[in-house]
Amino acid sequence: MQIPGHIDPVPVPRPGLVNNVTPRADGRIDLLGLGRDQIRDALTEAGLEPKQAKLRAKQLFHWTYHRGLTDFEAMTDMAKTLRPWLAQRFVIGRPEVVEAQVSEDGTRKWLLRSADAQDYEMVFIPDESRGTLCVSSQVGCTLNCTFCHTGTMRLVRNLTPGEIVGQVMLARDALGEWPKGTMAGLGSDPEDDLALDDEDEPDAGYSSAYGTGARMLTNIVMMGMGEPLYNFDNVRDALRIVMHGDGLALSKRRITLSTSGVVPMMARCAEEIGVNLAVSLHAVTKEVRDEIVPINRKYGIEELLQACADYPAANNARRITFEYVMLAGKNDSDADAHELVRLIEHYRLPAKVNLIPFNPWPGAPYECSSPARIRAFSKIVFDAGISAPIRTPRGRDIDAACGQLKTAAVKQTRAERDRAEAEEAATLG
Ligand code: SAH
Ligand code: SF4
Repeated sequence: MQIPGHIDPVPVPRPGLVNNVTPRADGRIDLLGLGRDQIRDALTEAGLEPKQAKLRAKQLFHWTYHRGLTDFEAMTDMAKTLRPWLAQRFVIGRPEVVEAQVSEDGTRKWLLRSADAQDYEMVFIPDESRGTLCVSSQVGCTLNCTFCHTGTMRLVRNLTPGEIVGQVMLARDALGEWPKGTMAGLGSDPEDDLALDDEDEPDAGYSSAYGTGARMLTNIVMMGMGEPLYNFDNVRDALRIVMHGDGLALSKRRITLSTSGVVPMMARCAEEIGVNLAVSLHAVTKEVRDEIVPINRKYGIEELLQACADYPAANNARRITFEYVMLAGKNDSDADAHELVRLIEHYRLPAKVNLIPFNPWPGAPYECSSPARIRAFSKIVFDAGISAPIRTPRGRDIDAACGQLKTAAVKQTRAERDRAEAEEAATLG
């Protein structure tokens, strides 16, 4: 989409990318990110009989996503002769870790690199009752929200399903959280079993098939780099593997997708993914939201809130989260808070509001509202009966907080920068 007045970087096309699988130099196929049917097709193409391929795909899916194995030799129910056959043709990969950092508050950030040398980040935020993995959906973001560091990256490409699900797998590797045990039950599962909803077990986080041990990684938020609804198919395919009962088996109630307001994709998000929704609202007037969340010029506040009201997964048990970044003198007045309440009431939204203190980055054009201002804003919303907690920034010392994600890989050469600036001037002129 073209946003007037803003340069709108186009996702970089990926030469040689077939069916969203990054080709490997050694010619083998990486199974990471493939669903059961895609694994079956890959096996058939490699020469297995259809019936065999179906059975083996089911086993491979289980070992790959439920157990976290990367070595075919360790797949005990695979015929001995089949294991080297698989290893010659396939791998089960992981994103490459370029750097892993730990904040003084326990937040961890990983800088990851794709096979074609694109960098992206994921963040793990532990607290007393849960552990949340903040997952990226794109390298960079095309949307240029003025307060967001990721939005200043010019180089953008969609992450593949493998790169998205790979973040969750890598976190499980790092936290040592793959289940042990037998293959009992495999073969009797229905084809498309999703993880059991765990409303009755608020602290479990996993379907019962996964055991009940306390785990660190309990929640996923699609709030890393990128706009997930601009990479809908890949995000959906990755999250389906994450939610699959024989995959990573995380309940959809433990997953939240955050969008800046890509209205036409919200209904599909409900239908085809069904996870919790967070909406980056950040302003309540057209004038301010047009400025700070430029996609608002395309899909305005009313349209966005109507799409929230129509979001079928939203009800009193599963409220929509409105994210609201607190920018001094920009969107933080009492009048803004009252208008926010009015809008939520007008659209009868089961909602809660997350007030996010603005996280600064070098050259950012805003300052964070004062603590007293944020408290006053929060109180107005609370007094209207709408939960409006103030989020504590996490991992600031390692640039892991909301909106700070921007990798070093985007440093451009002088010539590239000049060209981009000339293009921008031409667009604006
Ligand atoms: N693109 C999606 C998801 C990623 S951003 C979206 O915009 O919703 C995750 C959240 O961090 C969004 O609410 C975003 O607005 C917020 N954010 C971005 N930059 C920020 C900053 N500098 N300080 C605080 N929050 C920020
Ligand atoms: Fe993109 Fe979200 Fe940042 Fe806006 S806030 S630029 S949509 S990542």
